[in-house]
Amino acid sequence: MGFDIERFVGTVNEGLLCCVCRDVLEDPLQAPCEHAYCSTCIHGWLVHDRICPEDRQPLNITQLRPLFRYMKNDLDRLQIRCINAQHGCTVVCELENISKHERECGFVTVCCPNMGCSTIVERRNLDVHLNVCDFRCKECPRGCGMQILNHDDAEHNCIAELRTEVELLRAEMICKLEDQRREMESRLDSQRRHMVQREGLLQAEVDDLKGQVTRIMQEMRSLMEMERQRRQDLERAELEKRELIELIKGIPREGSEGIKSVTCSRCKRSERITII
Ligand SMILES: [Zn+2]
Ligand SMILES: [Zn+2]
Ligand SMILES: [Zn+2]
Ligand SMILES: [Zn+2]
Ligand SMILES: [Zn+2]
Repeated sequence: MGFDIERFVGTVNEGLLCCVCRDVLEDPLQAPCEHAYCSTCIHGWLVHDRICPEDRQPLNITQLRPLFRYMKNDLDRLQIRCINAQHGCTVVCELENISKHERECGFVTVCCPNMGCSTIVERRNLDVHLNVCDFRCKECPRGCGMQILNHDDAEHNCIAELRTEVELLRAEMICKLEDQRREMESRLDSQRRHMVQREGLLQAEVDDLKGQVTRIMQEMRSLMEMERQRRQDLERAELEKRELIELIKGIPREGSEGIKSVTCSRCKRSERITII
């Protein structure tokens, strides 16, 4: 939709009017036949008819182009009144700047930003309203530090409010502690299970080692027994040797040397010895 021609100061060239809405072009586009239209107007038109609305020549969306530069310049320089003129805004500016002004125009109506307030005021009066708005918040003048609605001032009780706040904090804290306790317990549980498992494994290892030690001790004992036997045999042999030597010494020498057979008195074993 174009701009209402009544908002313009001075005359507007016929070529700057939209062929669809007959208002002054807004976001203009041009057809090959050089007729111009507002962007929204011609797009809406071409949904139903594929012809130029002015001369009925065939037309489709892909043929639309930006307005000739000289026409666009003429359009941009047209002087237009602010949309809020009927509310008192006296601003008149070039068409290319009007949207920027209207975004910031003090005569535009806005909602009070305070939650719960439904007051609508002109932007230029918003500050005045905010100072008296019943829904504005302020810090408690008695120093409890809470934000209170202006009209709640009389009912505000610092001690009661703070008590509620403390109760809330306490409940929150208890919740948090309970959560932490539960987490710790579950962690301890899993550690305990782990320890029990480990203990079982270690016990099995200890039993195994004990068995090994017992076997080694038995082997040691039998080795020691064998060693004792061997020593006894050795001692006996030594004794026999000494007896034999004694025996040999007791044999009278006959000046001859030779080999004689000697029989042990104990074991009855015969040994051949050389007598020198
Ligand atoms: Zn239009
Ligand atoms: Zn045309
Ligand atoms: Zn304005
Ligand atoms: Zn308000
Ligand atoms: Zn207070």
